[in-house]
Amino acid sequence: SGVNLKKSVSTTCPYCGVGCGIRVQVSDDDEIVAVEDDPDNRSSEGMLCVKGRFGTSFVHHPDRLTTPLIKENGEFREASWDEALDLIADKLVNYRDDNFGTLCSAKASNEDGYIQQKFARLIMQTNNIDHCTRLCHSPSVEAMLASLGSGATSNSYTDYENAGCLFVIGCDPTSNHPVAASRMRRAVVEHGAKLIVVNPRRIDMCDYADLWLRPYPGTDVALLNGIAKVVLDEGLVDEKFVANRTEGFEEWERVIHNYRPERVEEITGVSANDLRRAARMYARPPIPDKVPFAAASPTSVSPLPQGQGTGVRGYAGSCLIWGMGITQHTNGTPNAHGLLNLALVTGQLGFPGSGVSPLRGQNNVQGCGDAGCIPDNMPGYQGYRPEAMDKFEEAWGGQPLPGIRGLVITQIVQSIGEDFGVKAMYITGENPLLSEPDLNEAAEKIADVVLPATSFAEKDGTFTNSERRVQRIRKAVEPRGQSRPDWEIICDLGRRMCRKLGLPLEDQFTYRHPSEIFDEMARLTPIMSGISYDRLDKEGGIQWPCPTPDHPGTPYLYADSFPRGPRAMFLGYEQGPLSDERPNRRYPLILNTGRILYHWHGGTITRRVPGLLARSPELEVSINPADGEKFGITDGQEIRVTSRRGELTGKALYTDRMRAGEIFIPFVKLSESAANFLTNSAFDPDTMIPEYKVCAVRVESA
Ligand code: SF4
Repeated sequence: SGVNLKKSVSTTCPYCGVGCGIRVQVSDDDEIVAVEDDPDNRSSEGMLCVKGRFGTSFVHHPDRLTTPLIKENGEFREASWDEALDLIADKLVNYRDDNFGTLCSAKASNEDGYIQQKFARLIMQTNNIDHCTRLCHSPSVEAMLASLGSGATSNSYTDYENAGCLFVIGCDPTSNHPVAASRMRRAVVEHGAKLIVVNPRRIDMCDYADLWLRPYPGTDVALLNGIAKVVLDEGLVDEKFVANRTEGFEEWERVIHNYRPERVEEITGVSANDLRRAARMYARPPIPDKVPFAAASPTSVSPLPQGQGTGVRGYAGSCLIWGMGITQHTNGTPNAHGLLNLALVTGQLGFPGSGVSPLRGQNNVQGCGDAGCIPDNMPGYQGYRPEAMDKFEEAWGGQPLPGIRGLVITQIVQSIGEDFGVKAMYITGENPLLSEPDLNEAAEKIADVVLPATSFAEKDGTFTNSERRVQRIRKAVEPRGQSRPDWEIICDLGRRMCRKLGLPLEDQFTYRHPSEIFDEMARLTPIMSGISYDRLDKEGGIQWPCPTPDHPGTPYLYADSFPRGPRAMFLGYEQGPLSDERPNRRYPLILNTGRILYHWHGGTITRRVPGLLARSPELEVSINPADGEKFGITDGQEIRVTSRRGELTGKALYTDRMRAGEIFIPFVKLSESAANFLTNSAFDPDTMIPEYKVCAVRVESA
């Protein structure tokens, strides 16, 4: 079409945790002009969704920041890097320890995240470090750490196609993880797998489901306990697995005892009969017609004849797949435990086609945690154990490091303005003004200095996808304006801080290339010690644990033991209050929030991709027609939605995908409206995740 192509660069999609391989086509003018799929990528095998294929033009958008900005008298002005970084360093020397907090980015690379947490721990002497997993999967991680000893997805995407049953709960993969959804559909349509969908909304995946359960919002603990009760009553327990590989069964059984299906039907609205069908399907799924990717062992994947690997028990594996419909509740952690207990009691863990899969939203949310961007763990989930601290202190110049758990992001934001609260923050690649609940509260806190960072296409590094696969990103175009990679910016700041503080640690922030950062991280982090850029370039993505250079990586976990020890732990919870807020006469509807196919999270990126914005330019409020009539609203009408905290306007979208009494709004910001003006900051006490999925609202003509 008249454009001269200069090169094609293999890299990784910057959107979701599926981590699809893309080949970026770059013109003579150093512009990305097209994206092709990468058939050699092991996670996507040539598949791409609309965001991966058409969503990269934001890299060249004129709104991109190209110079540092400093705020003066309430206005931003352009500044040089020296001026901006010296100003930050001058200020931050006064706010070390608990006065400082940092929010890392699950959009940034592993190398960026590693350097950011190193800066916070080593220079700022604090563990007040967090990233967006707090707002998405912290209950999954908390529950998996307690029950299994690792917060990572246990299996691979290929396991979906080896499974006899997919149990998809609290997520909408067609919109949010489209390529993973393609595998799920293929499992059902081509291999005969059973599909159970649990969602209060009728999502697209329901069209393929053998069973769609539609519980009332906030009732997942009862639902999962009810399914477990059927497993116990109908002899569907994997006795050998429970006896040899678990503990805590008797205490858990005492909790489950009270969840007769008929009682659970009253709480959840799901019929006792459907609970029984779900239990049988999940615990004893039929062996699929084909098992195209069966893993011969936890460390090798090769095609196997039908039935082998999955057929040794006389029934197939089941995959549990979930998203934020499970986690973003005041009972998020009990919900996640309900899922894990179900996997343990049926032994659906540790063999091909089975496993537990929290679907990760951001492209590098797994890697951000792995790199140590969390308040309760050093890189590689090594805690603050003395041997880990000794190792890091020795590697990082011999300085003592803080060894107690820091604040999570919700606590950091809430503490700002308090006497002993956080006084200074360094935020990378996140927009808390859109992602925090109750935005009217969060909007008061705004930046003093803004720095231009490069996008994924302008730097080298690695991302780690939801199946623990470390993959390369490669520089395709030159940085826009004066933008620099985050790792380079923070290293520069770190060196300046060392000089101002008289710390002999400048050499801790001197790297010539991100591969040197990766090598340091791998050396100090046993789960990825065997991975290097050299291997990634030769072999493609590698799944951790990969402890040695000759280790092939690990497609599925828990074949023989668990990171917490030989046995996994049952932890039973009672159904608590359904949510912090319930509908009443003034706010009669339940608001559910989530994402849509054409936009990414708050929309900061996708609103700057004209093709995607054109597909979805307005905020739509999905509402059941019966509610529309009840509240005097017509289809397509501009309406106002109000909660106790704020209001927004959007266009009413009549749909019977919503149950009467419940509405849905995507949390992308369109036309100055964002769902988080309405959401409730009440949180799950175990993880501080806000209750984005349930709050009480009313609707009226705008
Ligand atoms: Fe990118 Fe996710 Fe789409 Fe793959 S499924 S192309 S990783 S947004």
